Amino acid sequence: MSDDAELFVAGSVPAARRTRRARVAWGARVVTIGGDAPVRVQSMTNTDTVDVVATAIQVKQLAQAGSELVRITVNTPEAAAAVPRIREQLDRMGVDVPLIGDFHYNGHRLLTEFPDCAEALSKYRINPGNVGKGEKKDKQFAQMIEVAARLDKCVRIGVNWGSLDQELLAGLMDANARRAAPWDARQVMYAALVQSALGSAAYARELGLDADQIVISCKVSGVQDLVAVYRALARRCDYALHLGLTEAGMGTKGTVASSVALALLLQEGIGDTIRVSLTPQPGEPRTQEVVVALEVLQALGLRAFNPSVTACPGCGRTTSTVFQELAKRIDEHLRAMMPGWRERYPGVERLKIAVMGCIVNGPGESKHADIGISLPGTGEAPAAPVFIDGEKAMTLRGEHIAEEFHRIVEDYIERRFGAR
Ligand code: SF4
Repeated sequence: MSDDAELFVAGSVPAARRTRRARVAWGARVVTIGGDAPVRVQSMTNTDTVDVVATAIQVKQLAQAGSELVRITVNTPEAAAAVPRIREQLDRMGVDVPLIGDFHYNGHRLLTEFPDCAEALSKYRINPGNVGKGEKKDKQFAQMIEVAARLDKCVRIGVNWGSLDQELLAGLMDANARRAAPWDARQVMYAALVQSALGSAAYARELGLDADQIVISCKVSGVQDLVAVYRALARRCDYALHLGLTEAGMGTKGTVASSVALALLLQEGIGDTIRVSLTPQPGEPRTQEVVVALEVLQALGLRAFNPSVTACPGCGRTTSTVFQELAKRIDEHLRAMMPGWRERYPGVERLKIAVMGCIVNGPGESKHADIGISLPGTGEAPAAPVFIDGEKAMTLRGEHIAEEFHRIVEDYIERRFGAR
């Protein structure tokens, strides 16, 4: 056997780019974004903010799914009036997740005319493309920043290419046309996004906002565009960065596009908080965007949230759906139990379970997991060996393999992660 003396180097968990630390707080709950904090997960409601109960319930669901910050739309006086009531409702339910207010066009009025709203929110999202035109732009932006500075709130300066500051873009396009060798229009767009964000941040600093109160985002809907823009942002500033692909779309397309975009940048250490902007499919829970965000961070090895279930894809050796159903049931069971288990069993999120379809890879993969089960493939004896910590521990047979396997998993969790 030849030995080519090749050293194999595994991909490693990316080292985060060191950014400033933004502190987003509600009561005793403090969520730090940037610095040496873990990459944070955030999400946004799609309820009418005026509907206090529906919004509070959705915020709670998002928080329970793992969202560490939740953004709500604040678009009208009625919505602004509802914000402190939503906050109260959440506090009554014991949900202390910080709320972020999403402001466009009239944020200056809503934040100044509804002081209880300004107080109940822990962070304001301001889109520099939507704060006003001409002379009003700086004035209205300043009004919002002054509220944030006075109340010690964080601000996300969130640029979006669907609502990019058109005056700024037109100015850059004109300047580009005068270049001896004009840039591609896309390059000008990237420059406009970055300039809008960093120019607004510099103005916010002049107005008295601390650099640690600023988070920046420049969202676009194309993966390669996002990579180009965020690499530029990372080179040019040390503000904490909010990362996400805007208007990612629905279902598989949205999930894949978001995951790829986030992974490319997170692997370079770029991104301090993420949001996956999925369009829910009919009937799909809003929490799906949180599930995807958690999976991205866990797949990259940046954070661990839930036990992982490794399952083979199945093939011609698995002509029944037994193993697919078992893998799904176990995954769902673990996710359902995790809110309680997280506190009761510290470290349980690192548990690895394998559910395999036949003898080809089943025993081998099961031995690599903490607990694994290798189900019988077509034509195999109707028996499912279970492996615990790499050793064959027992064989399950009969109709109730799923229930028995659940019990085995729970006993193992209690033994390994329970209070000693
Ligand atoms: S473990 Fe067996 S059932 Fe699963 S994909 Fe491999 S050969 Fe097919």
